[in-house]
Amino acid sequence: MSYVFHRTALGGLPVAASGQGAEIIDTEGRRYIDACGGAAVSCLGHGEPRVLEAIQRQLSTLDYAHSSFFTTEGAEELAEHLCAATPLPLEKVYYVCSGSEAVETAVKMARQYHVERGEPQRRVLISRHQSYHGNTLGALSFGGNPGRQKPYAPLLLEQRKIEPCFDYRYRQAEETPEEYGQRAANLLEAEILAAGPDTVMAFLAETVVGATSGAVEAAPGYFRRIREICDKYGVLLILDEVMCGAGRTGRFLACEEEGVAPDLVTLAKGLGGGFQPVAAVMCTSAIHETFAKGSGSFVHGHTYSAHPVACAAALAVQKVIRDDRLMDNVTARGADLAARLGARFGNHAHVGDIRGRGLLQAIELVEDRAGKTPFDPSLRIGARIKREAMDLGLLVYPGAGTVDGTCGDHILLAPPYNIDAQMVGEIVDRLGDAVDRAI
Ligand code: PLP
Repeated sequence: MSYVFHRTALGGLPVAASGQGAEIIDTEGRRYIDACGGAAVSCLGHGEPRVLEAIQRQLSTLDYAHSSFFTTEGAEELAEHLCAATPLPLEKVYYVCSGSEAVETAVKMARQYHVERGEPQRRVLISRHQSYHGNTLGALSFGGNPGRQKPYAPLLLEQRKIEPCFDYRYRQAEETPEEYGQRAANLLEAEILAAGPDTVMAFLAETVVGATSGAVEAAPGYFRRIREICDKYGVLLILDEVMCGAGRTGRFLACEEEGVAPDLVTLAKGLGGGFQPVAAVMCTSAIHETFAKGSGSFVHGHTYSAHPVACAAALAVQKVIRDDRLMDNVTARGADLAARLGARFGNHAHVGDIRGRGLLQAIELVEDRAGKTPFDPSLRIGARIKREAMDLGLLVYPGAGTVDGTCGDHILLAPPYNIDAQMVGEIVDRLGDAVDRAI
C-alpha cells in the first residue's frame, strides 16, 4: 500500500535506497547501472563528495532568499561560470527549477522582447513535430509528442509545427545529408511565410532531439540555415538544450558544434546533475538590454527561482566538470559507446538505427529493418526492454514509437560523464541481453 500517486498507477516500483558512482541500489540490495541518469540527469553519477560538501556549506549559511529581494553570491558566480563555459555570445542567465519552466520562460522572454520593441503583433511560435519541451501545459503545447498531448488536447495552445530534421526517417535516397539539411530547414521559411512573417516571434527546437525520437542530431548545415532564416525575418531562435546541453554531447552547448548561436538557450538536467532541481535560460545581452531600456522588468518569476542551494549545487557540478576535464571524457567514452553499440547491434534484425552525439546515444527498434517499419506501438517494445534491463541491473530510458509510423520505439542511453570504458562495455552487454529477452 502506497500513499504516493506514482506515474504508474499499477505499483511495483522498487525502492531506491542509495546511489554510488554510476549505480543506484534498492532496498533489496539490488544494484542498477544508471546508464540513462534517470532522464539524462545524473551527469556525475551519484554521491559526488565535492557537490555534497557545497550543498551542506550553502545550507549552513543561507537556506533561502527570494529572488525579488536579493541576489546571492552563488547565483552570480554560477551565471559567470556558465557564460564563460561557452564561446557563444550568451551573457545573461535566468534561473528556474525545471526544464519545462525554462522552456516556458524562454518563450515568454521572446514574447516580451518583441512587445518591448514595439512589435506586439509577433505572437506566433513555430516548433517541431517529434519534439519534447516539457509536461506543463505551455511546454506540452510547444512539443510534438501526440501520445503525451492526447488527453489534454482541449487545454493546449494552438501551435504551428514543422517536420523535424531526422535523417533516418525523412532523408530521401537521392539527397546528400547536406541537401537534406537545407530542405528540412527551408520548411521553416515556408511556415513563417504561411503565418505572416511579421507575426512570428520565435522558432523553438532541441539541438539534439532527446526524449521523443531518441538522440537525433540535425543534418550538417541545418541549424546554420535555420539561423539565416530567423535573421531574415526577425524571428528569435530558441534552442532547447535541457537534455543535450551542459556538456552531454562533449561541448558545453551542443549548438557550438553546429556553429550556430541561439538568442536563447535552455539548460536543466546536466546543470545540477540531479543534486538539486535547477534549470536556466541563457540569452544574449541584446535581449536583456531591450528589457533594461524598455519597461525595466521581465513580468515573470517563480518562488524558487535562483534558489541558493540549487545554485550552489549547480556551481559545484559545473566546477567538477571543468576541473576533471569531463567533456573530454564525454567525447572519448561517447565514441566508445557508439562503437560498441555498432558492434553489438549493427546487424541486429530489429535495430534500425544507432545514433547520437557524445554520451547521448540511442538505438531505434524496428519490426523490419529494410522497410524501417516500427513495431506496433501497442507492443510497447521500449517499455519491455526497460523492464528486462532492470531485471538485469541496468537502467535505460525507453521512448515509445508513434502511431503514424514516423518514429519507432527507441532506447536512450545517457550515462555519467565520468564513466570508464569497462562500464561502457558492461552497459552494452546488458542492453544486448535485455533486447534479446524482450523481442
Ligand atoms: N526540454 C527537453 C529537451 C527535455 O528533454 C525535457 C525533459 O525531458 C524538458 C524540456 C522538460 O524538463 P523537465 O522534465 O525538467 O520539466
